Amino acid sequence: MKVTMVGTGYVGLVSGVCFADFGHEVVCVDKDPGKIETLNAGGVPIFEPGLDALIAKNVKAGRLSFTTDLTAAMQDTDAVFIAVGTPSRRGDGYADLSYVYAAAEEIAGLIKDFTVVVTKSTVPVGTGDEVERIMSEHVSRDLFEVVSNPEFLREGAAIDDFKRPDRVVVGTTDARAVAKMRELYRPLFINETPIVFTERRTSELTKYAANAFLATKITFINEIADLCEAVGANVQEVARGIGLDKRIGNKFLHAGPGYGGSCFPKDTLALVRTAEEANVALSIVSSVIEANESRKRRMANKIVAALGGDVHGLRICILGLAFKPNTDDMRDAPSLTIIPRLVDKGAEIVAYDPEAMDEAKKTLPDIEYADSAFRAIDGADAVVIATEWDEFRALDMRRVKSLLNAPNVIDLRNIYRGEQMRGLGFSYTNVGYPKPK
Ligand code: NAD
Repeated sequence: MKVTMVGTGYVGLVSGVCFADFGHEVVCVDKDPGKIETLNAGGVPIFEPGLDALIAKNVKAGRLSFTTDLTAAMQDTDAVFIAVGTPSRRGDGYADLSYVYAAAEEIAGLIKDFTVVVTKSTVPVGTGDEVERIMSEHVSRDLFEVVSNPEFLREGAAIDDFKRPDRVVVGTTDARAVAKMRELYRPLFINETPIVFTERRTSELTKYAANAFLATKITFINEIADLCEAVGANVQEVARGIGLDKRIGNKFLHAGPGYGGSCFPKDTLALVRTAEEANVALSIVSSVIEANESRKRRMANKIVAALGGDVHGLRICILGLAFKPNTDDMRDAPSLTIIPRLVDKGAEIVAYDPEAMDEAKKTLPDIEYADSAFRAIDGADAVVIATEWDEFRALDMRRVKSLLNAPNVIDLRNIYRGEQMRGLGFSYTNVGYPKPK
């Protein structure tokens, strides 16, 4: 099939490349000429493990190309995907749909034969209806069908998630669109991936419900971690004890500094706004948003408390800036809340992240950046582990201790063991553990 992917960001690029790898002929389009130039020069504008090799393979095979020219990209296309951003609208938390609607309008003007227009962006219930209305102003209604096909991939594991998903959700009741979507995802049918065909509105809501549930699970274990600290229990063992119950499951039960990233914060907010408009109380999701925001702020206080209550003049090394490992995505990362608060309290920050420093510099231009973990640690008064990149999991702690001014480690991701660290002479603080005796 011929596929056009409008929006070549984290989702559009990965989806486009994976569809090409399934054997479809894919053209990825983006408004940002810098991104397209980078891709056409053999580069990759984002960090995602394995993506560079998969792009090179499919470009070489002639199945994948990149352009800023939507008209050329849509020539003879069977399906056009909208994979543009839907960030939080400033001030009110509603999803900003202006990019989706603009893309819909541009696409509509170029349709000649029957085309499925697939919304891959995360969009509130009813957006498909509005996309259909906008398009109908420019093209005959029988020449297109608007389908919802939300994406569930995780940054950092995006290729595997796309190619081996737990499920694919497709929102349409139109027989022609169902046939096209089946053909597109045929390689997954063969793998027996469950494909949930449903109505468009149900599909749109399914994506938000999934993200809100996952955000709730993280927030739940984070609050249990607070309780563990207060009453002398161990959150990792609680998580294991509950996670072995198949009704609960062991995923997303890692206590930490609060969820971040480009999806959970904005999607939980947008879901609550949708519910408010529908006069339905989503009290759990509202509480999750509030708890997570306050948690990120409290993590800065936790660091200050671990360092004796005053960080004025202290040099604090932050290891990890991205909201999770294996991505350079800095959107809503907890580090963006924690670092400015430490700076406000007079700390001097030196940070290191394996992939996210270029992105981080755009929002945190005034802190110091080091080009390795050990250079960041050298001469610091404390190390804070903010993201659990693999390269931080087995640091030579004797070397860390010899480089530090004072042996303080605050591990917000629980990747070290308290007894071991204290045995090596560190003052060690983590999340959700009893205070050392
Ligand atoms: P992104 O910001 O990385 O990429 C969006 C791209 O769309 C940008 O490159 C932008 O230049 C381009 N664009 C905007 N308008 C355009 C237009 N009219 N024509 C061509 N290009 C245009 O965003 P993302 O992280 O890929 O997210 C895209 C959508 O997917 C969002 O709705 C998001 O919620 C959803 N989603 C994201 C993830 C994730 O992990 N990032 C996972 C699942 C779903």
